[in-house]
Amino acid sequence: VPLETLEEMHKLEKNFPILSTEFRLIDKIGEGTFSSVYRAEVLSGHIKLGSDMWKSPPLKKSKKVLLPSKKKNPIVALKQIYVTSSPNRIHNELSLLYELTGNTHVAPLLDVLRYQDQVLAILPYYQHADFRDFYRDLPIKGIKKYLKELFEALNYVHDKDIIHRDLKPTNFLYDPFKGKGVLVDFGLAEKLNIHNKVNNHCPCLNKDKLIINKNHSKRLNIKAAYPKSDNRAPRRANRAGTRGFRAPEVLLKCTNQTTKIDIWSAGVIGFSLLSRKFPLFNSPDDTDALLELAIVFGLDKLQKCAELHGCGLEINLTNGNITNGNLIQLLHDMLIYEVNNECFPIDSVVYDTIKLFNSQGDSFVKPIADNNIDSEEYKRNLEDYRDHKQMMEVLSGCFKMDPSKRLSARSLLKLPFFQELST
Ligand code: ADP
Ligand code: MG
Repeated sequence: VPLETLEEMHKLEKNFPILSTEFRLIDKIGEGTFSSVYRAEVLSGHIKLGSDMWKSPPLKKSKKVLLPSKKKNPIVALKQIYVTSSPNRIHNELSLLYELTGNTHVAPLLDVLRYQDQVLAILPYYQHADFRDFYRDLPIKGIKKYLKELFEALNYVHDKDIIHRDLKPTNFLYDPFKGKGVLVDFGLAEKLNIHNKVNNHCPCLNKDKLIINKNHSKRLNIKAAYPKSDNRAPRRANRAGTRGFRAPEVLLKCTNQTTKIDIWSAGVIGFSLLSRKFPLFNSPDDTDALLELAIVFGLDKLQKCAELHGCGLEINLTNGNITNGNLIQLLHDMLIYEVNNECFPIDSVVYDTIKLFNSQGDSFVKPIADNNIDSEEYKRNLEDYRDHKQMMEVLSGCFKMDPSKRLSARSLLKLPFFQELST
């Protein structure tokens, strides 16, 4: 353990004396803008987790709180939520965590410690692997299991009308050996308000016009893209989340965001696993993010999506720029794909992707080197191929531009892709 961390742990023990008597701090396992997470062993049986802070009805039978093996001391994760986080934010995270306690796919809140303005949430520690260490290697069946765990977690959370808002690999702790996944980090999560639930049309509609002017051969002054005198009311919407995982309606500042924004993010993770590319989208800002989506999913689709939210979307890019830009890079990265440890081009899978996602698929991208596909090879990998095709169906359900058409976690779990796991 680095000296710096030891000092931090020492300071933490000074503020929370119980940490040096009832716990043994082991190391630091995470650090973000609003929190540090430590691993600790719970010593002896003195502390009764889950009994002190929250005066609440006793946990129902279904509210099983699973701690690691009884013989060994339980290992917990201590999430120190920084004081820079507002009291409301801390309260929001803790109360949502508490509400969500009772499902194996969401880390239950065991207890909360407070010292002055400092707050420590105690959660069971989950063994997991770093996404970057396995996203290149998960076979299609492994991807299937990962996504099943993820959608089961989302299904539970969404049933309680909670939007996670920051779904990404670091917030879904996955153990590829056990095939178990747990959703963590409800720091940005929101309870859906009642208005968001009943929507036939998107109430964020107004006459905004969003203009993107990007010219990659000659970068224009971005200011030139905006009207000289702009008297439109600025649009404000929750944009909380992480770049690359934001749904189009978040980028378009829709004020009526629903649980479907998590489904989009799950799709991005799935696409990452399938294409062996992480991060998949890497634009520095929301404007570029929209451009990235336009390139991958088609400008016309994104324009229709903007209309849905009362925005106009203009992209000042020639077709040449589009076809010579990121799409080709993305496809290039996807072309070599390992199936059964054999490298061969998955042109047809890529082609299917483009066809599914892009209405202009046929003219946009021609199947590359069709004759390279050895039909024997495909027969051997028929099952993998079927899995890939079925997974495309899952992804296209996640990537519907219109959130009301985007599939829910429950519907996604019913798709053929997951059937072989549902016994
Ligand atoms: P932040 O709000 O700072 O992102 P998180 O709740 O996402 O905080 O935790 C940060 C990191 O700490 C996670 O990405 C994960 O690696 C680790 N972590 C958090 N909770 C647990 C847990 N219960 N078990 C194991 N590791 C955890
Ligand atoms: Mg996090």
